[in-house]
Amino acid sequence: MQFKQVVGQEEIKQHLVQIAKEERVPHAQLFLSHPGTGGLTLALAFAQYLVCENPTETDSCGLCPACIRAEKMIHPDIHFTYPVIRKASANRPPISSDFAEEWRKEIDKNSYITEYEWLQAIQSENKQGNITREEANQIIEKLNLQSFEGGYKIQIIWMAENLAEVGNALLKLIEEPAGKTVILLIAENQEAILPTIISRTQIIKIPKIKESEIAAHLHQNFNVNQEKSKQIAYISDGNYRKAQLLALGELDEFGEELKNWFVYCLNGPAPDLMKWTEDTHGKGREYIKKFFDYAINMFREALVYKYSKKQIQPHVSESEFPTVRALNKYISYKSLEEIIDRFEESAYHIERNSNAKITLLSLSIRLNKILRAS
Ligand SMILES: [Zn+2]
Repeated sequence: MQFKQVVGQEEIKQHLVQIAKEERVPHAQLFLSHPGTGGLTLALAFAQYLVCENPTETDSCGLCPACIRAEKMIHPDIHFTYPVIRKASANRPPISSDFAEEWRKEIDKNSYITEYEWLQAIQSENKQGNITREEANQIIEKLNLQSFEGGYKIQIIWMAENLAEVGNALLKLIEEPAGKTVILLIAENQEAILPTIISRTQIIKIPKIKESEIAAHLHQNFNVNQEKSKQIAYISDGNYRKAQLLALGELDEFGEELKNWFVYCLNGPAPDLMKWTEDTHGKGREYIKKFFDYAINMFREALVYKYSKKQIQPHVSESEFPTVRALNKYISYKSLEEIIDRFEESAYHIERNSNAKITLLSLSIRLNKILRAS
């Protein structure tokens, strides 16, 4: 990956090039990004820049043997850790390299992949991704070795939230790594990372991508005309992954589902709602959590639309707009707060293996009350 393949983020690129040139790359950095803004993509480009044999003022050369190996994600000094699940046949906890082939394939296809999509790709179905203690041990082992090429040793930890308590095992390594070690943690939720890790890393906040940059990329790469590109860029609100999906027309599933569910909620516990809980339960835990995120976001958009007196165009597609319009009649600041609390509470239960069907039904009934009272 070269910096020129990263959508937007010019200031971050410049900063990374600068610290590399001046040889003041911190041992541990946390790329704190919003979904779809390119945390992993930037880390890949930065790692390649650090190992490149002929880096320019702005980018890796893309041609030297080190670049070619980095592009293929087979450079011996660039290591990857990402959430995985236990393979059915395995008799030990999983480590990232169990899925190395899948990882290369998916990231080569799209480095803006979301955690949800990654877990789908390795067929986690209902299982949650995890970074295990065994993986932490692997990291320590690998980083204690000499670098193969005599330069930097780089460890990329994607979705570092999954480290949870296991992160404690890495504290010493992060504090006093051997030689030219660079640990790049990528995360979207700072609160889910141990404070002891946070305090030992330099945080780089990856902002949302500028609308004009997303629009230009879509226009060039997705055969979308200029006007439509601008429209999608606005809706995607700085999230390039969302923009890609919109350009490919692949975001309609949740929209349709929310629209129907909203009507069922308003109607209360009738056969339609029962069937919905049954069907949605069947789609698995990860799907449900993702759907909750989507729904919360739509409620938020509806609230902004309402209180801006319809002056602020919501960040939604044409097909989602009627839902926002319908929602805005039923929500207020107070009810939104309550709605978000209920969603979070339900997500918590679902994460902890409670009966998803009952959780979905009780959430629907609570929403019925909240929406009816607003
Ligand atoms: Zn190179």
